[in-house]
Amino acid sequence: MYRAHFRCIAGCPGEHPLDEPLYRCPACGDLLEVAHDVAALRDRSAAAWMKLFDDRYKRTTWPYGSAVWGKKEWVCPSVRDDQVVSMDEGGTNLFWAERFGRAIGLDDLWVKQCGNSHTGSFKDLGMTVLVSVVRQMISDGRTVRAVGCASTGDTSASLAAYAAAAGIPAVVLLPRGKVTTAQLVQPLAHGALVLALDTDFDGCMAIIQRLAAEEGIYLANSMNPLRLEGQKTVAVEMVQQFDWQVPDWVIIPGGNLGNVSALGAGFDLMEALGITTKRPRICVAQAEAANPLYRAFVNGFDTFAPIKAEETLASAIRIGNPVSVEKAIRVLKNYDGVVEQASEAELSDAAARADRTGMFNCPHTGVALAALCKLVARGTIARGERVVVVSTANGLKFTDFKVRYHEQALAGIDARHANRPVQLANDYDQVRRALDAIRP
Ligand SMILES: *Cc1c(COP(=O)(O)O)cnc(C)c1O
Ligand SMILES: [Zn+2]
Repeated sequence: MYRAHFRCIAGCPGEHPLDEPLYRCPACGDLLEVAHDVAALRDRSAAAWMKLFDDRYKRTTWPYGSAVWGKKEWVCPSVRDDQVVSMDEGGTNLFWAERFGRAIGLDDLWVKQCGNSHTGSFKDLGMTVLVSVVRQMISDGRTVRAVGCASTGDTSASLAAYAAAAGIPAVVLLPRGKVTTAQLVQPLAHGALVLALDTDFDGCMAIIQRLAAEEGIYLANSMNPLRLEGQKTVAVEMVQQFDWQVPDWVIIPGGNLGNVSALGAGFDLMEALGITTKRPRICVAQAEAANPLYRAFVNGFDTFAPIKAEETLASAIRIGNPVSVEKAIRVLKNYDGVVEQASEAELSDAAARADRTGMFNCPHTGVALAALCKLVARGTIARGERVVVVSTANGLKFTDFKVRYHEQALAGIDARHANRPVQLANDYDQVRRALDAIRP
């Protein structure tokens, strides 16, 4: 009874089925988006949707215990339950960052821990949807040679895991030497064909698009809007976790800009169905070394120009030519949005300060926290406002970054919060004297 289809974001006529391997509008070449039959979704009241989602949240009835599939009617209603490839996505901790918030002048700061997920990043939210659609396509008799993606590390880890769970071959293209050890070992462990190319992410992206057009590889990057349908549940879930109240601000790190586009789509749908009336303001946080959206924002979004992304510790957002830039700018305009940037020193410092308050953040979350500090210092965000920072990956995938920080080995960075192990002999008195370092 509920339906969704692909349509062109530039408004070309035509509806395309979700099980078609189609990544751009056949008429104009622009991106596609998933459009839901909102009129059909209005058959349930806002209160009924909220109750349904609350009843399913983190329970065991397949597949609704996954916080993505618990909202299945809003995500991808055509997937049959027995085709869902799920590893229990979403339902992640919304952490009240009390000490960090107070330290920077906020009383109501929350961090949505999307990295507490099967493969350690928010990418699982979208990948479960995409791989489920592919599994159903194969079951319906279509031929898919493999699923494939270009990746700065987390997309390939997620794709490889879901493809392995479904028994579908996967091929991933990585920029050689530019992903972390954990990110490299994940697709290897899951048996994906891992191609490490002597280029950057944008170079890998160009090649995978051609493989999708010419070699029967099903494209799993976020230009495939099926990913965004799963990722948009993060907006619904954070509102649900606040008992259906909308926060004042959401801050999200952005690279290819699919995630902020998805965030906006989630808030759009809640408003369309009467669940919410208020809109949050949205901030996209970029690394200064890879900041094409920030540059466009400073110019009032009059023009957008891709750049060559430079090296950054926030390796998953090292993207100079973001695929979803048009969608992202549309979201920022609708959500009174801003774009902020963080230097390498600022992102490292913010991540380390947050770790000192019990978080364990990836460098991208560091970018978002550094952006937050700037917005608070400037008075754009006021003390009493409710702010959610979207933490995109688990810090355990970025231990190289943390180890080098605490060893004072990050070039050009004064690691003010570095903490080194104290090397001691097997001697009680030495150990007892070392306790003098404890400060109340
Ligand atoms: C993919 C990724 C991002 C960026 O998301 P986009 O949709 O590309 O903007 C940010 N942080 C982490 C950890 C990621 O893996
Ligand atoms: Zn079009």
